[in-house]
Amino acid sequence: MFRLCLLLLVAITSCSRAGRIIDAVSQTIGSTGDTQRGELLRGANDPPYGPTLVLPSGLRLEHLTQDAPLTASYPDPTALPFAGSRGDHYQRPEFFVDIPTLSAATRRARASRNFSLDEYVRLPDRNGDERCYVDPQIAQHVQDLRDAWGGPLILNSTFRSPRYNAAIGGAFFSRHMYGDALDVAIPDTRRARDFYNLALAIGVDFIDAFSNTVAADGSGWIHIDDRGF
Ligand SMILES: [Zn+2]
Repeated sequence: MFRLCLLLLVAITSCSRAGRIIDAVSQTIGSTGDTQRGELLRGANDPPYGPTLVLPSGLRLEHLTQDAPLTASYPDPTALPFAGSRGDHYQRPEFFVDIPTLSAATRRARASRNFSLDEYVRLPDRNGDERCYVDPQIAQHVQDLRDAWGGPLILNSTFRSPRYNAAIGGAFFSRHMYGDALDVAIPDTRRARDFYNLALAIGVDFIDAFSNTVAADGSGWIHIDDRGF
């Protein structure tokens, strides 16, 4: 029961759609990675991140920028409302992609086979953030989801700074601030259950419950993240 309550709390703090009842889903469906990818992604799971970012396409972003005020704006991981050991997954990020200095060519470059770096960067850019982060593991997982679905996917939400996350009423510990959460638009809400099941099967650390995927207006998205537990 304690574990159930914990999961419920984690689920409630995960996404930005306020006021909805979320029933937690805990799943550990198998890894999709081969050894090489596993090695590539090991250590990229959790903040604090290093000065080099290697995305699933092999795209390398060197000399990521440090931004002490931004780092300091993150929640204190020791103030987590849930189990203490999980604070390890909420260390304040120390290195960020500096959006204004990205060339157009770099923004167009592939982050994975079917997703450009720009698809991760343009949302924080539009929201007034000059820094962002892209977790390689979630970038691989959304590529896996795209492969499983067999058609284009649209990312509705990628990185959010703590400032922007607070402005839109996001969860205090939203994984979007750590660059390992994505909201993915459901391509066809009539097949929302199929899409959701595919998302479950790709093996992310956390996915919101199905009841939180389709809005009253008929639009829909799912929140996936690789929070590390
Ligand atoms: Zn989300």
